[in-house]
Amino acid sequence: MMFEYAPAPESRDVVDIKSSYGLFVNGEFVEGSGKPFKTVNPATEEKLAEIANATSDDVDRAVQSARKAFGVWSQLPGSERAKYLFRIARLIQERARELAVLESIDNGKPIRESRDVDLPLVAAHFFYYAGWADKLKYAGYGDARPLGVAGQVIPWNFPLLMLAWKIAPALACGNTVVLKPAETTPLTALAFAEICQQADLPPGVVNIVTGAGQTGAAVVAHPDVNKVAFTGSTEVGRIIARTVAGTDKKLTLELGGKAANIVFDDAAVDQAVEGIVNGIFFNQGHVCCAGSRLLVQESVYDVVLESLKRRVSTLRVGDPLDKNTDIGAINSAEQLAKIRELSDAGEAEGAARWSPACELPAKGFWFAPTLFTEVAQSHRIAREEIFGPVLSVLTFRTPAEAVEKANNTPYGLSAGVWTEKGSRILWMADRLRAGVVWANTFNKFDPTSPFGGYKESGYGREGGLRGLEAYLDV
Ligand code: NDP
Repeated sequence: MMFEYAPAPESRDVVDIKSSYGLFVNGEFVEGSGKPFKTVNPATEEKLAEIANATSDDVDRAVQSARKAFGVWSQLPGSERAKYLFRIARLIQERARELAVLESIDNGKPIRESRDVDLPLVAAHFFYYAGWADKLKYAGYGDARPLGVAGQVIPWNFPLLMLAWKIAPALACGNTVVLKPAETTPLTALAFAEICQQADLPPGVVNIVTGAGQTGAAVVAHPDVNKVAFTGSTEVGRIIARTVAGTDKKLTLELGGKAANIVFDDAAVDQAVEGIVNGIFFNQGHVCCAGSRLLVQESVYDVVLESLKRRVSTLRVGDPLDKNTDIGAINSAEQLAKIRELSDAGEAEGAARWSPACELPAKGFWFAPTLFTEVAQSHRIAREEIFGPVLSVLTFRTPAEAVEKANNTPYGLSAGVWTEKGSRILWMADRLRAGVVWANTFNKFDPTSPFGGYKESGYGREGGLRGLEAYLDV
């Protein structure tokens, strides 16, 4: 029997979106000198607000304010810095519903995910690093000092969560921050700026400069920035590495991925299918560690694929604010064009395309969940990051072949292994060149656990004890 779903929309009334937003510099909202740009709701294409555009002069003011604040902030006892971070974490929890709705409106992700995944993790990151602020000398880095001003550039796929990954450890270690959110998703970072005001954070400790790639480039290149942290595409990561080369700036890069999700013939099929779906359709596949290459052992290929198709057919695509929605809107017209281009290339190169019957809304940016079978290793859809709800399915016969295929990528961010056998999990984890290997689960995040890549997926680790190293002069 099929049950019909009634609409279950989350109320928009909890958010108050202003018609325009300034830059957050030295504890205040100020106008930007560049031509403002707009941010839209990707599910409706409705304009949400005008956003200030920071020029290099504005970035300079933000960096100078962070430099001045560094003198005060870095001298505070860790226990005092911890109080501010705990206060921020609690304010995030108090305003969690509002922030989740705002994130879904600006980004397009389902409210179920922003409410149950993003926001709890954002608060957890601040709580976790608040706990470290007065214990740094026990972290194993000696009497390490903070680096100074951190310039941080983040992407649009997890706007507030990436902000938390960057700002929480930086502040805990005594650094101050100039952060640039992505052009398409600035609203939650600006709400966070209000939270800094609410928490009475000393002016200049956190500065938020909105703008396009040029604003990011100005942050990265500023001579008074001591540390650069970037999450985004490998292409921009390369540009940033070139800018920073030859300076004494410290750099961490968290870039793209093309993770293999490997299913062995002894895996529990239903659980594996849930993990495959979560691996690629979570957050519309806009996930750097998405399990975008499914490797299935040949002997169970038919049963896994049949079960996977059945499950994908139940996914609900549509209004991000509906609590029953599984797949929301694609973040931007540009990203949608990229997903379409790569999917078309998949067909042109000979892979077989399948999507369930699903009605997409007329307005906004949408892409139906898609599987490609008969994929060869050489196909673009098996090599390039699609960053959308598109899964490429390949097969293997032996564990050695699975390892060979999984590692045959320029990336190395994450991988998944599905098997009943503990010894096989360890054998695989030893051989997979990926920063994170999940076993019988996928996309599990925790502030205590370090995250980062090998090869073209970047360098440095965020999260956990290792995440402190990036913000200390060790
Ligand atoms: P980008 O790498 O361009 O964006 C990430 C951030 O960097 C944004 O804030 C962006 O600003 C900024 N930026 C852009 N150019 C520069 C520059 N020269 N110097 C400093 N900062 C800069 O990613 P895109 O949004 O263009 O996405 C393209 C592809 O990248 C995706 O399709 C996906 O494959 C991959 N990607 C991977 C992510 C990951 O987590 N690994 C995250 C996002 C994208 P602005 O927003 O104005 O462009």
